[in-house]
Amino acid sequence: MGTRGRAIIEELGIKIEDLIMMLNKAFADEWLAYYQYWLGAKVAVGMPKEAVVTELLEHAADELRHAGMLADRILQLGGTPLLEPKEWYDFTNCGYEKPEDFDVRVLLKQNIKGEQCAIDVYKKIIDYTKDKDPVTYDMALQIMTDEIEHEEDLEAIKDDIEKMFAK
Ligand code: FE
Ligand code: FE
Ligand code: MG
Repeated sequence: MGTRGRAIIEELGIKIEDLIMMLNKAFADEWLAYYQYWLGAKVAVGMPKEAVVTELLEHAADELRHAGMLADRILQLGGTPLLEPKEWYDFTNCGYEKPEDFDVRVLLKQNIKGEQCAIDVYKKIIDYTKDKDPVTYDMALQIMTDEIEHEEDLEAIKDDIEKMFAK
């Protein structure tokens, strides 16, 4: 990021180091979410497996794209994206839910919990950057919009499954 761009953000009260830390924590979350979805799609069993796997793989691709957006912004701000996968566990806000039970209903529940955490993470970044860093604000808003859609999609499938089993 250019000198003037950085100066303006700092004048408006953003601590760049704190912002980079927030973005790196979200970056760790995205990688763990990506892996949780990707692995969930591999191990999933039960009905309706195909619909769930399709959704999980779509979301995995979105999380990976989010990780890329965060890495780009961290670099623009003069930071470095976490260099070691083992750091993901130290930095994560939302953690990683190991898929021990491969039932699609359990996987959905775990991933819904992750999306709810992700929405809160981006809400905090949005609040921190509002009216101060429009570039990061806009990126966080775009990502949060995806996370809200992810939560809705998973809840809709979960509701469908519950209706199917209620018959
Ligand atoms: Fe994401
Ligand atoms: Fe998501
Ligand atoms: Mg979806």
